[in-house]
Amino acid sequence: MSAVIALHEFNYLSPHTSLTHFLGDSAHDNYAFYQWLDTKDILPIIKLNQKKKGRRELGKVEITYAPDGTPICLGEPMVYNGYSNNRCRHKWRCAICYSKKRRLENPNHYCSDSPYGRVVYTKCHDDLRLYPKVARQSNSWTRLYSQRPAVERINKTLMIDDALETTRLRSQSRIYWHIFASFVLIHLKAQVAFTAR
Ligand SMILES: [Zn+2]
Repeated sequence: MSAVIALHEFNYLSPHTSLTHFLGDSAHDNYAFYQWLDTKDILPIIKLNQKKKGRRELGKVEITYAPDGTPICLGEPMVYNGYSNNRCRHKWRCAICYSKKRRLENPNHYCSDSPYGRVVYTKCHDDLRLYPKVARQSNSWTRLYSQRPAVERINKTLMIDDALETTRLRSQSRIYWHIFASFVLIHLKAQVAFTAR
């Protein structure tokens, strides 16, 4: 798969640059890739391919799971309540108990003996694809993934504007130079746009 090859080559060419996150569209959404990123300690920020099936059942009663991994308690998708670093797990709370307003609207709602409401935990290793360390339901994920269009713009500049897609160059080193020159150009344009602001 091309992302694995690209990351491998990147690591080979600049071994001192460590990658913390990988921003990918849903074409990168497959288990083998999550497992590979996990072994490299790279956090996946990858959009779900909605056509794929949801998670496997964990054997708990009453809780079902939406295709994106969100636990569903009594028909209500639960609210994402953060990642615990020391216990390596995501916390989910009953949506009705979580909100004062909704609790008043549902006076007969009962999901747990505690007024705090039902709590479900999911671990990253339950399912690396549905429960990456940065959960898709969190604000951090949204903030990080919002940078993905920039990746698409760079791909477009490289492939179409700078004609890498239709290049007649064949040797790998020439292709590297073509890409290198494109990136220099992208940086220069960005510098000009930045100083012109
Ligand atoms: Zn509840």
